[in-house]
Amino acid sequence: MKIFIATKNQKKLKELKRILIPMGFDVLCESDLDFEFKDAVEDGLTFEENAIIKAKSGLLQTGYITVADDSGICVDFLKGMPGIYSARFAGDHGNDEQNNDKLLLALSGVPMEKRTAYYVAAIACVFPDGRQFTVRGECHGHIAFERQTGNGGFGYDPLFISENGPFSQLTAEQKDAISHRGKALKLFSEELKKYIEV
Ligand code: IMP
Repeated sequence: MKIFIATKNQKKLKELKRILIPMGFDVLCESDLDFEFKDAVEDGLTFEENAIIKAKSGLLQTGYITVADDSGICVDFLKGMPGIYSARFAGDHGNDEQNNDKLLLALSGVPMEKRTAYYVAAIACVFPDGRQFTVRGECHGHIAFERQTGNGGFGYDPLFISENGPFSQLTAEQKDAISHRGKALKLFSEELKKYIEV
């Protein structure tokens, strides 16, 4: 059975393929299509809404069962910001350096006990017959006072300290085991089995 992954993010694609291929799916991504896949406008108010918007756009463009994800970091002191705006926090879509600078500035002078934060990942799956579901994974921790050493991860990882240490210092396997995306993917594979027989 064919399943389309609606993302241009190679890292997300790799992680989703790692789960879906062993389940027996014929996984398709943008490079398998003979047309340019258009990104959806992410105007939902929650991670789940945005994941559904992206997945529905994929289904509309391809006709296949489509999977999409939306993720970000919520900082308690900032009342949950940047949240669904994480990628564009500093304005420039996906500029990790500027996003991290802006977060550090927003938290300057804030003591460690008030720097709690959590990553969220929502994964949505939509079917041509109208069925749909979402799952959500979270990973709780703190925002450091400065960038931590280590080259692991991406995005806000240089600033995020999980219960198992700075995300920038974890191996991919260590991060997958506790991360928001790792948890969401585990729930996703369990949920998907209830919906279809491959
Ligand atoms: P999306 O592509 O719209 O889902 O945006 C996700 C944004 O959230 C990314 O650009 C990162 O800034 C941030 N983010 C999500 N997951 C992670 C992670 O595992 N590590 C670091 N940053 C992340």
